[in-house]
Parts: sequence; structure tokens; C-alpha cells
Amino acid sequence: MKCSECGATMKVTHRDHRYTECGLPNVILAGLEFRTCQKCGEEERVMPRLTALHRMIAEAVAEKPARLTGAEVRFLRKHLGWSGEDFANVMGVRQETVSRWETEKERMGVVSERLLRLMALRLRPVEEYPNERLAEVGKEDPRPVSLRLRPNSSGWRMEEAA
Ligand SMILES: [Zn+2]
Repeated sequence: MKCSECGATMKVTHRDHRYTECGLPNVILAGLEFRTCQKCGEEERVMPRLTALHRMIAEAVAEKPARLTGAEVRFLRKHLGWSGEDFANVMGVRQETVSRWETEKERMGVVSERLLRLMALRLRPVEEYPNERLAEVGKEDPRPVSLRLRPNSSGWRMEEAA
């Protein structure tokens, strides 16, 4: 491997790395690969499979027994691909409230916290489940849902309700 700064050969080492870049203080990436330039001192960190890594961190946070810290609320929100405004819309709170949760000026309610954990564990990628849809729920009076489901080889398929 050549240094991207000076072109000299880089030396590969492995060591643990505290991954504070993700916003959480106590996430250690064990035996991570570092490439250090012998000439100019440039150092590169090799971060393989970032999506899978963030998925694992998000699952661990969502499943931990203790209440969430502000940094964890922010991590899960970002993991879901939401801005503070998006998250506020989804939760039905003001953006200022989201900011207060994330800076620990206010503790999230238990129900909100469970909802965030569930979303982090269950929600499909943002592009498949636009948060605009979540923000729109609960605005009409209750009425029974109308579904038409047809069994097929892979399970069930949703059809347009009559
Ligand atoms: Zn170099």
C-alpha cells in the first residue's frame, strides 16, 4: 500500500480503536487495521462493512436494559436516517424537544423511548418507509383498517382493498 499523501510505503498495524466518531463514548472496535506512512506519518484507519457495523451498534443500543443516554437517542435517530425535524415529525413532538432529549436537558418518556428502540430494530431503510407516512398517522378518527390479503408461494400479498 502506498501513502495517499507522499506515495511512500505504508506499514500495517492492528489495534483497538475507541469509536467515538459514532457519537458514543464506549464502543471499541477490536484489532482494527491502521496503515501508517513511514515517511510522512499519515495514518489511515480501515473501516470495513460500515453498514453492518452501525446496524450492530444500533441493535445493541436498542436492546440495552438501561434508559437511553442523549447520545444514544441521537445515534439511533441518525441510524434511522432522520434529521431532528424528521424525528420530531415522526414522534409528534416539537424539534426543540428532540434537541432537549439529545442534550439530556429532558429525559425521553418511556413510551417514546420504546418506540424509538422498536423503530431502530424493526424499521426498514428510510427509502422503503418514508417517515412522512409515520408523521401522517393518527390524524383521523378511528375506523377499522381494510385489508385484502392473498396467499401465494412466498407468503401473503397485499391487494388493493375493495
Ligand atoms: Zn506519506
